[in-house]
Amino acid sequence: MDIERHQYDVVVIGAGGAGLRAAIEARQEGKRTAIVCKSLFGKAHTVMAEGGAAAAMGNVNPNDNWQVHFRDTMRGGKFLNNWRMAELHAKEAPDRVWELEMWGALFDRTPDGKISQRNFGGHEYPRLAHVGDRTGLELIRTLQQRVVALQQEDERVHGDPEAFIKVFAECTITTLLKDDNPAFGPKGAIAGAFGYWRETGRFVVFEAPAVVLATGGIGKSYRVTSNSWEYTGDGHALALRAGANLINMEFIQFHPTGMVWPPSVRGILVTESVRGDGGVLRNSEGKRFMFNYIPEVFKDKYATTEEEADRWYTDQQNNRRPPELLPRDEVARAINAEVKAGRGSPHGGVFLDVSTRLAPEVIKRKLPSMYHQFKELADVDITKEPMEVGPTCHYIMGGVEVDADTAAASVPGLFAAGEVAGGMHGSNRLGGNSLSDLLVFGRRAGAGAAAYVDALKTRPKVSADEVRRAEAEALAPLERKGGENPYEVHAELQRTMNDLVGIIRKADEITEALEIIAKLKERAANCGAEGGRIYNPGWHLALDLRNMLLVSECVGKAALLREESRGGHTRDDFPAMSPEWRRKLLVCSLADDGSVAVEEQPQPLMRDDLLTLFDREELSKYLTDEELAHYDAVAG
Ligand code: FAD
Repeated sequence: MDIERHQYDVVVIGAGGAGLRAAIEARQEGKRTAIVCKSLFGKAHTVMAEGGAAAAMGNVNPNDNWQVHFRDTMRGGKFLNNWRMAELHAKEAPDRVWELEMWGALFDRTPDGKISQRNFGGHEYPRLAHVGDRTGLELIRTLQQRVVALQQEDERVHGDPEAFIKVFAECTITTLLKDDNPAFGPKGAIAGAFGYWRETGRFVVFEAPAVVLATGGIGKSYRVTSNSWEYTGDGHALALRAGANLINMEFIQFHPTGMVWPPSVRGILVTESVRGDGGVLRNSEGKRFMFNYIPEVFKDKYATTEEEADRWYTDQQNNRRPPELLPRDEVARAINAEVKAGRGSPHGGVFLDVSTRLAPEVIKRKLPSMYHQFKELADVDITKEPMEVGPTCHYIMGGVEVDADTAAASVPGLFAAGEVAGGMHGSNRLGGNSLSDLLVFGRRAGAGAAAYVDALKTRPKVSADEVRRAEAEALAPLERKGGENPYEVHAELQRTMNDLVGIIRKADEITEALEIIAKLKERAANCGAEGGRIYNPGWHLALDLRNMLLVSECVGKAALLREESRGGHTRDDFPAMSPEWRRKLLVCSLADDGSVAVEEQPQPLMRDDLLTLFDREELSKYLTDEELAHYDAVAG
């Protein structure tokens, strides 16, 4: 049977914030652009984002600016961030938010009519532009509206609304296609992408010299997660298999507040806005325990008494922030420690309370989704009683290694933006910095892909052999009758990652996890799917499993190598942060035998003008003596 084929200049895989912003940019640069997504159009992960997009607009506190945002981001990432990405992000985020407004986004307002900004963990000033607790929905709605506006323009000019930008929804990409002609360099070049329509199971080939990965994260490798079914690490695995590198894969963010009860909803997110707007964490003894967990590096920035913490909500100039608003890794570890010490809530979490802090009508106005979520899913009225919450796997800081300015990966023609890209957030992401990251680097990826296409002298070609290989790989689970059950393999992977490579890690447990993953890889290679190609979730899972296993191997191997604790990587056997390890990135690539190889790569020290934005005392907590000597020389 002939395979459906399409030709484009740029194929964007993923229709979340990063993918849509990339596609808009590529189309605005005059490139024929396809957006391919495995979910329904509009149902990307971005739509679930609640709290807001971080941008130093200074609307609520005029002291805010890009330098303060840059410093907060680097601190949050414990100085392992790609500082050029953090710089571009802090500088460009306000323009990206204003641009959204120009395209029709309706943000909440300050009393004087500016875009309102709310507090979030790790941000020195109120910085998150938001729409209640449904910011992601507005972001996606606005970007989709922009796509439609461009299509209307194309209808007027070319008589075809899909002449330059077209959406292929419910279509899963399983393989990136390459042209290995050495003229393109040792890694060849991207020639397109191969996938299947989820409904019919029919295959489709996209021929395009540039592919932007915007596939989001990997949470479905963990048992307790805030992530939805799409997050199976597809983009990470596609990039690895195409010859690109992944960095920072050991750093996984466990959001401190997921629902813990009832079991069917365990892991679903409870937005950080609850704490940003005044909610507090208490243990079973009723104590606000976060005051006991302020780490040395943050001592001077957080309140040490409840009185000061409470005053901060109305007077931020003269008081320090409540410790409930420490970066997420700190709060998640503290909750974990309280539960372990036997001071948890009845269902294994702690209490998060707004009911004694805000009036019922304020809670319903500021946190409408949370009110409904708890009422409908847990029969808890958060205006009257506290929520029970605990850590949940939320976000991966690691991802495709990209050039900061163009979002280009090391394989010519491959670009990545959003959660699938690595570097920007270092070892820990600040809340709100993802939505702004999607906009800033989505735009840059679209522009980078367009510039790459313009500079190409010859277009890479999709060979018949490559397509046959991709087709055979995709069909394999359907041809194995009586093979392993993919649901069982998946459940065991989730248990393994949750229990052995979770929030607190140890060498022997990670080693055990890697042994299990090796066995699961063998079992996954034997997975079979009953039935045919027409909407067959067992088949889809069997294909997604390969990606989850590969990505989990990256996480495990990098976690075993990094012998320190930093951000989203806590080693019980190496509890301290090490200045020597700050100088190292761990880079994953695919070895010839299909296993993951991990190598150390030096992390360059920040540019001098960025370095001197920090004071020496703070840097001395992170940098080596040699680096500090350099600071002394440049700071004078
Ligand atoms: P996504 O929005 O997830 O989009 C991924 C796209 O890729 C989807 O369209 C998917 O279908 C597609 N895809 C995946 N694999 C394939 C494939 N193989 N083939 C084809 N398509 C594929 N961040 C903030 O900054 N502020 C917040 O307030 C906030 N709140 C959050 C609340 C929740 C509940 C969650 C889970 C996350 C939150 N985050 C927040 C994080 C943020 O939402 C995500 O990091 C971000 O939306 C990721 O965007 P993305 O564009 O990279 O990916």
